[in-house]
Amino acid sequence: MIRHHPADTTLLACAAGRMPPAHARVIGVHAALCPHCAAGLAAAEAAGGALLEALAPVALAPDALARTLARLDAAAPEPAPPGFDLAALASGRWRRVAPGIAIMPLMARDATDSRLDLIRVAPGRALLAHGHSGAETTCVLTGAFTDGADSYGAGDCVETDPAVAHQPRALPGEDCICLIAVTHHLRPRSWLGRVVRPLLGM
Ligand SMILES: [Zn+2]
Repeated sequence: MIRHHPADTTLLACAAGRMPPAHARVIGVHAALCPHCAAGLAAAEAAGGALLEALAPVALAPDALARTLARLDAAAPEPAPPGFDLAALASGRWRRVAPGIAIMPLMARDATDSRLDLIRVAPGRALLAHGHSGAETTCVLTGAFTDGADSYGAGDCVETDPAVAHQPRALPGEDCICLIAVTHHLRPRSWLGRVVRPLLGM
């Protein structure tokens, strides 16, 4: 059963397109698993549409057409990574970064300094203790982990406050695979972590 959901303000930001694509992707995967948040997103999108319709029309800038046509010639946006279908996601290549820990990059770091990865942690293994210099949004796909304060299972969405340091540890059972968006970088709490962090790229 899903117990952890994104904040209402996160759903609003996601519906309004005000969230880095990597984080929006994680929220979208959670919403695909969570009828409660899917309904919240749909309501936020409908509210945004109603607000747009209520706005008085304004004249377009004289160069609006030219700028729109120019965008057609711009490079196509990076294709979205596969959805939450784990079989499709796992068609990429896992890169082992530590005993029992592997990552699969899905979206390279973008203009918002955000990236999207799958991370797979063997039961009982822990990530290095770390803080954050930006937002971290996680959706658990398989298995479960604990951060010491609470535990998170399949479908749960975790928004980590950048001010909070934590050390996620996979719970016994199956591998814990998470979809994780990170803006800026993790801040390891140990010298070993600072050595390993560049290998993670996070
Ligand atoms: Zn939810």
